Amino acid sequence: MRLYKNKSDIQGFITHLKDKKRVIGFVPTMGALHAGHISLIQAARQQSDFTVCSIFVNPTQFNDPGDLQKYPRTIEKDLYLLELHGCDAVFYPGVEEIYPPNAGPAPHYNLGRLESILEGAYRPGHFQGVADVVSRLFYTIRPDKVFFGQKDLQQCRVIERLMADNPDFERIRMQMVPTLREPGGLAMSSRNTRLSAEELRKAPAIYQTLLYLKEHLAPGDLAPLQEAAKIRLIREGFRPDYVSIVDTSTLEACPSWNGQTPLTGLIAAYLGEVRLIDNMELV
Ligand code: AMP
Repeated sequence: MRLYKNKSDIQGFITHLKDKKRVIGFVPTMGALHAGHISLIQAARQQSDFTVCSIFVNPTQFNDPGDLQKYPRTIEKDLYLLELHGCDAVFYPGVEEIYPPNAGPAPHYNLGRLESILEGAYRPGHFQGVADVVSRLFYTIRPDKVFFGQKDLQQCRVIERLMADNPDFERIRMQMVPTLREPGGLAMSSRNTRLSAEELRKAPAIYQTLLYLKEHLAPGDLAPLQEAAKIRLIREGFRPDYVSIVDTSTLEACPSWNGQTPLTGLIAAYLGEVRLIDNMELV
């Protein structure tokens, strides 16, 4: 497995792969890798000739500096896992490699309502940071296919928008990979390592609440169902930011359901100091 820390080095090698018409699959991550990330690597390997994974804890997408500081970093283990699972190259840049100190301010990305709903409402600036870093990584890696997790559904919608709005990215194909879960249903996440044993025991309640939404979904007013789901979480000791049932394609809130529109349930909730997110297609 090749390891690159400099943009110019990996760009040189990518040019060589492009000359040989190799299909490049790309998996951007922030490290602290788990089986969910590895499922993205496996999807990339199946659908490309050469798989690149980036590991970069992007400071501009953290609206809370404490969260950035506490973000787990396990680079040795990450490299071991990637090598074990057949990743071909890793891009592991420092912050100044992605954000050169003398470069101008980041451009503004037009993300429409995606920026202000759900995660956007609770993490101001988060999706501008995501759009900016992903854009910089796409220009560096020039992938043919990119792989993102459904666990971060709103992030997937942001990336789709970024790709649709930029002709430089229009030939890139994106694949959304299903959320990998622990046996009890907890969505795998790098942040789970910060949960105590007691919190880990409670954490599957988020998944159970999504199942509850799916089970009780019926045409008509959806407010009572969302409220009941929120109360379930609060009783389990969570502090929910939102429990929302939305239109799967736009992620806009769906106050009343016509019995046909595909819907997704999304939850963001604190358990102790750790903020967890998850979602599930309801219909
Ligand atoms: P992160 O390192 O958290 O930025 O995640 C990197 C990529 O892995 C993103 O596309 C995530 O959506 C994806 N991912 C994170 N957790 C999971 C999971 N449990 N199952 C599938 N993909 C995931």
